[in-house]
Amino acid sequence: MHDALHRIRQNLAEIRERIAAAAARSGRPPSAVTLVGVTKYVSAEVTRLVAEAGCPDLGESRPQQLWEKAETLAGGAVRWHLIGHLQRNKARRTVPWVHLVHSADSARLLEALDEAAAERPDPLPVLLEVNISGDAAKYGFTSGELPGVLAELPRLANLRVRGLMGMGGLESSTDQTRAEFASLRELRDRLQGACPPGVSLDELSMGMSGDYEMAIEEGATLVRVGSALVTGVEG
Ligand SMILES: *Cc1c(COP(=O)(O)O)cnc(C)c1O
Repeated sequence: MHDALHRIRQNLAEIRERIAAAAARSGRPPSAVTLVGVTKYVSAEVTRLVAEAGCPDLGESRPQQLWEKAETLAGGAVRWHLIGHLQRNKARRTVPWVHLVHSADSARLLEALDEAAAERPDPLPVLLEVNISGDAAKYGFTSGELPGVLAELPRLANLRVRGLMGMGGLESSTDQTRAEFASLRELRDRLQGACPPGVSLDELSMGMSGDYEMAIEEGATLVRVGSALVTGVEG
């Protein structure tokens, strides 16, 4: 475990350095970008080490894994991010644990999240997932659906929509991925003016291990990095 912690610290230091350099290239301080350490590949024990190494924002793509790890690590300083698809019938069990849902991908899920969030002391922060690559296998709203979704938000009083999330296409080249990230930022800029009072799309969650520096150059405020964080670590 000592070796694992040492390795995670090294990985984390390198990632933070790259984040800072990419942020500087986009004219922003390193603090403008939050690193979400994606722990879906590792055990609860290693997940705890990631937090201990200095990455308190942790992401899981499967709700069940998030519940289990959140329970195991309860009492620590972890802020949990749900980054993968959520079925509506799992909203109630998920909402109490999460700091930010990145993957709100349908109007019906927003309804379910709003209902579940009624029991929270504070509104639930969420991002609207956008299918930026047009991959049929990807979840998310189309850009054309978003104005209608934004118009409905005043009714969903227990949610606080904070921005957009997107993923580069599985088949996309580097240039295409960069264009997809840029288009998400442009979409956000356009929609910013069409938001109901009290809604501001300040956050852009985009970029993973292979493309987070490019995502930051294109305006990401949250990057979701998994494999680069736990490379060389067992379990
Ligand atoms: C797994 C996952 C990541 C992290 O991917 P890596 O390439 O391992 O960094 C980021 N975002 C989502 C939605 C994921 O499912």
